[in-house]
Amino acid sequence: MSDEQTTRQWADKLAQAEPGAIVAWAAGEFGERLVLACSFSLEDAVVVDLWARVGVPRLFALDTGRLPEETFIAAEALASRYDLRIEWYHPEATAIEHLLASKGPLSFLDSLDNRHECCRIRKVEPLARALDGRAAWLTGLRRDQATTRTDIGVVEWDAAHRLPKINPLAGWTRADVEAHAAAHGVPVHPLHRRGYPSIGCAPCTRAVADGQHERSGRWWWESPEQKECGLHLRRPAVDPSAANI
Ligand code: SF4
Repeated sequence: MSDEQTTRQWADKLAQAEPGAIVAWAAGEFGERLVLACSFSLEDAVVVDLWARVGVPRLFALDTGRLPEETFIAAEALASRYDLRIEWYHPEATAIEHLLASKGPLSFLDSLDNRHECCRIRKVEPLARALDGRAAWLTGLRRDQATTRTDIGVVEWDAAHRLPKINPLAGWTRADVEAHAAAHGVPVHPLHRRGYPSIGCAPCTRAVADGQHERSGRWWWESPEQKECGLHLRRPAVDPSAANI
């Protein structure tokens, strides 16, 4: 079982490594118990492309019930291009029914607590199920995506889920990701071409103007330090509703 100390040693060893080398190392180290949490963003598609060069990518996706149709189109394109089987995880039906019955379908607009509650039911709890039994998980996070991500490492201990989290693109810019995708024919999520640099649930994501920060279209009514959904907590989530989700 990987532990926090071993993860720190891996982080030191891989701090300056290229994304392809990091993905290859992870595939070799964790074998079939490595998984990518895939939103079908360009970053995640590039991680799939890097993984496909050294093995068979294994990925899961969270169907929150509020995803835009284009995300399913992107998923089909990625699965076809790399011959993938995607594991879809869904929120608990009873939790959704209770939320809708008690607060309605747009409660996330009313307060930060309500938004956290919606993300917790639709994303955080399914993520915990998706990661159960895995040895490590891969993401497409980059440091320059958000003020909440400036210090992420290429390998770090995920205290919330108690396993290593590997962010091979941590040091890449958006331009680096786009260049890799263009050079290798990686399928591009349709909304990226329509002004959506970052894509999440349909009601909480909008297009941004040229020059605006790439995550400014996510929960645009909140301040930058609040723009996380709980999937990438940096500390144990004893009470996710009180954490930065
Ligand atoms: S992003 Fe919006 S719709 Fe999706 S889970 Fe969070 S609050 Fe709910």
